Amino acid sequence: MPTEFDLIRRYFQAEPRRPDVLLGIGDDVAVLQSPMDARLVVTTDTMVAGVHFPPETPPDDLGYKALAVNLSDLAAAGAEPAWITLALTLPQVDEPWIASFCTGLRDLLEISGAELVGGDTTRGPLSVTIQALGLVPPSQDLRRSAAIVGDQIFVTGTVGDAALGLSVLAGRASLPEDQREYCIRRLNRPEPRTRAGIGLRGLAHAAIDVSDGILADLGHVLEASGVGATVRLPDPPLSPAVAARLEATGDWDEVLSGGDDYELLFTAPVSARRAIESLFARLDCRVTCVGSVESTPGVRLLRADGSQHLARRAGYDHFGDA
Ligand code: ADP
Ligand code: MG
Repeated sequence: MPTEFDLIRRYFQAEPRRPDVLLGIGDDVAVLQSPMDARLVVTTDTMVAGVHFPPETPPDDLGYKALAVNLSDLAAAGAEPAWITLALTLPQVDEPWIASFCTGLRDLLEISGAELVGGDTTRGPLSVTIQALGLVPPSQDLRRSAAIVGDQIFVTGTVGDAALGLSVLAGRASLPEDQREYCIRRLNRPEPRTRAGIGLRGLAHAAIDVSDGILADLGHVLEASGVGATVRLPDPPLSPAVAARLEATGDWDEVLSGGDDYELLFTAPVSARRAIESLFARLDCRVTCVGSVESTPGVRLLRADGSQHLARRAGYDHFGDA
């Protein structure tokens, strides 16, 4: 049976790639050289088996997603990923499982340019905690609290895909094979919008990543900013799979409160519209204006015929009743 130290050496230790990692895995601490002219942006997210992911999730997808959700938070702040730590709690030593987990993690580490610099390995119910550290130039970090009346509200990519993927896995929805695969991939391999976040520095006012559904996450922005909004209901961007599902069920609430998409929702002044469109054209990423910021608190959902849609529920709350 390999010891904890064997596992660390075998799976987590690697030659530092970034010159700013002065001391990496293997000592009591990591020592990182942060640039003088940047702010350090820090975030952490835990994923618990049975709560944040079905226990049978393929380990490579889990390694990928545990990092993706953290990079998504950095993206929402406009930060560039630099370093991560990994606290891994495993029920038993299953080396093929760990190897596969690391493959998924390293796939996204490579893409992001971030480096694993430390962590902790313990025994217990399966859970993964990653802390990500990123860098942003002074005064350019994006926040939830900076939305201004008159701003337009934008969403990247499409929304509702991951929630539909989860419904498919739970047997609550069925889809043609290609759409099934697409939605499960969106659930297990969300693409953090890092380059979009960086590009939005100086363009966007407020930003958040969509982890709890656009209604709940827009609500966080509005509340933090002391404003309200109107969202035009035909406008939230949908994939063909979600559009077909909506056509069949007519259930907008499922789309608006479905979590786990990890798109960015941001607000920006009308004057930034052209620059935003050209940024996203450059990034080859969809961006959609879905509404505008107003002074009256709360979110009004306006149907195409001008009537108002009242949402049943907002988003997922770990300590809520529903
Ligand atoms: P300590 O006893 O000082 O906490 P550990 O034995 O927990 O040290 O870890 C030894 C080294 O391995 C440290 O550099 C730690 O950051 C690193 N490490 C442990 N587990 C992981 C992991 N899952 N991922 C990355 N690095 C890890
Ligand atoms: Mg330790």
